[in-house]
Amino acid sequence: MAEIVVAKSAGFCYGVKRAIELSRKAAAEHGTVYTLGPLIHNNDVISELREQGVIPADEPEQARGCIVIRSHGVGRDMYDRIAELGLECVDATCPFVERIHRIAAECGESDLLVVGDGTHPEVKGIMGWAAGSSAAVDSPEELEELTVSHKTFGTKSLKVVAQTTFDMCKWTDLQKKIKKHYTKAEFFDTICRATADRQSEAAELSRQCGMMIVVGGAHSSNSKKLADICAAECPTFFCENAAQLVREHKPGILRLLSSSKDVKIGITAGASTPAYIIKEVHNIMSEIIKDEAMDPEFMAALDSMERVRVYTGNRVKATVVAVNKTEAVVDIGTKHSGYILAEDLSNDPTKAPEDVVKVGDVIDCVVKKINDAEGYVYLSKKQVDTQQGMERIVAAKENNESVEGTVTKVVKGGVMVTSKEGASVFVPASQSGVPRNGKLEDIQGKAIKFKVIEVNEGRGRVVGSIKAAEREESDAVKAKFWEELEVGKKFVGEVKSMESYGVFVDLGGVDGMVHLTELTWNRVKHPKEVVSIGDKLEVTVKSFDPEKKRVSLTAKKPEDNPWTKFLAEFAEGDVVKVQIVSITPFGAFAQIIPAVEGLIHISQIAKERVTDVSKVLSVGQIVDAKITEIDEEKNRVSLSIKALLEDEADSEEAPAEE
Ligand code: SF4
Repeated sequence: MAEIVVAKSAGFCYGVKRAIELSRKAAAEHGTVYTLGPLIHNNDVISELREQGVIPADEPEQARGCIVIRSHGVGRDMYDRIAELGLECVDATCPFVERIHRIAAECGESDLLVVGDGTHPEVKGIMGWAAGSSAAVDSPEELEELTVSHKTFGTKSLKVVAQTTFDMCKWTDLQKKIKKHYTKAEFFDTICRATADRQSEAAELSRQCGMMIVVGGAHSSNSKKLADICAAECPTFFCENAAQLVREHKPGILRLLSSSKDVKIGITAGASTPAYIIKEVHNIMSEIIKDEAMDPEFMAALDSMERVRVYTGNRVKATVVAVNKTEAVVDIGTKHSGYILAEDLSNDPTKAPEDVVKVGDVIDCVVKKINDAEGYVYLSKKQVDTQQGMERIVAAKENNESVEGTVTKVVKGGVMVTSKEGASVFVPASQSGVPRNGKLEDIQGKAIKFKVIEVNEGRGRVVGSIKAAEREESDAVKAKFWEELEVGKKFVGEVKSMESYGVFVDLGGVDGMVHLTELTWNRVKHPKEVVSIGDKLEVTVKSFDPEKKRVSLTAKKPEDNPWTKFLAEFAEGDVVKVQIVSITPFGAFAQIIPAVEGLIHISQIAKERVTDVSKVLSVGQIVDAKITEIDEEKNRVSLSIKALLEDEADSEEAPAEE
């Protein structure tokens, strides 16, 4: 029977543990903190940290409040950038890396050569502390190239350091070669103890084993180096977690086991692999060994059945068997009791478990943590929702669609929105649709629509804009408005603003103007005489210009038209009592009924010749006059006092009837 041995040095190193603890502490204090790049190269741990408020950011400009420098460290200029942005800085640079920064900073006249991967953040950070020239090489070939391309480099004096996780054997080998080219080179042994121990143990173990499993993140430089070291000695399988080991390497492992049943299997892990993942890999390897030992026919039968494997990161179907205030209890078809805590049920923190699931629901979940000894497993529905939500978000961005969601909380610099499908989205304050002097709290709990303006699937980061969705909706409403607009169309709109020449009325996203003369049939000097801001006004479209986006309205109703009333009651020849309303050089205007005035021409004021109207008539004076002409087309009335006087004279002169 095969035997499994786990390397003693496998798992988190001092620097990684310290960085995780510092970040968790900062997140507990600030709510959310940002790390400059993923804190470690392990997706499971990054997802867990994200849920605790530790969010990776590519650049310090994406962070708000507090930023954590990870164990890899950064160049000197990054500290200045962080200070300029006014961010609080938690420096989790590993002390072993800090020691190299000091060596680099004290280079003085000397050039600096870093033996390591020039594209790795740790190496870039180290080079960012050198006062003079610096370069990085990680192979004899790169060293040769450097001596040819940069002839003066290191000729005065040279300090040489190694990336903390560099391969010990390669470092020894490269030191010899560097000495040949740079006679004045000074070497600093900077490969960290944890790395050195891990590498020598991996080399020793892989020499004793027939197969090695190296557990580490795909981007973890120290894990990849471990895999290289092991692969030089025996067949080696590299995976990030148990799920990936089964998915990608099970057939290869089974093939090896079938040819050598008593093989010794070694497991080691990079500095960024948590202990529980190493344990799960150990458990799954035990199961694979057991499977291999079984009768092949029974194995085939088993494989054809849908068996539930429980390991972190695995997706399973769960049936809800109970729901209480703090969690949902689920059955995942194994001997484990399954629990989904309230915070793992939904991205919306305002929702209680019973708002999300009910007994009998069958839901998709991801395994978060397993405790085999106690027989329970913690799962997350939220992670599946987030994944599905993310797919919808990506599609919405591609198709420029709006996404429905709810504003769940106010955070520094904006609000968090949970999309209908479960994705968590950050909306900056400037994109929230809340006016600059408004309160973000006013939209908390509200159902909204947003546009996706940025997605980083890898980091699970989505930035949205409520404002853009609102603008799109308002543009659509406006387009429909102009399409359906026609002269004579009636609206009831709110008076939004007032000028001396008229008022602006909101017709539902578009404003129209009612000129002063169109507010009422009566003569008014200012709109405030008849309306106030906020009044509801019944208006009719008089004319419009879609290009200039202008709508002219009238609030006058035809049935109130005083001309209609006038024409019904009066005719030419009638004698009326009128009131003088204005005096002009050519005559006087007199009101016959409200809003209908007639002109008494200067020649029609008296029998005698009048040269100055104001000497005969005054505003407010009431006089009798005869309607001498009605121009229905032009709405004009001519009045005459003289005609009336002449009529009277004629009747006095006429002989009385016997
Ligand atoms: S590997 Fe060594 S240098 Fe790197 S973080 Fe861990 S302890 Fe620090």
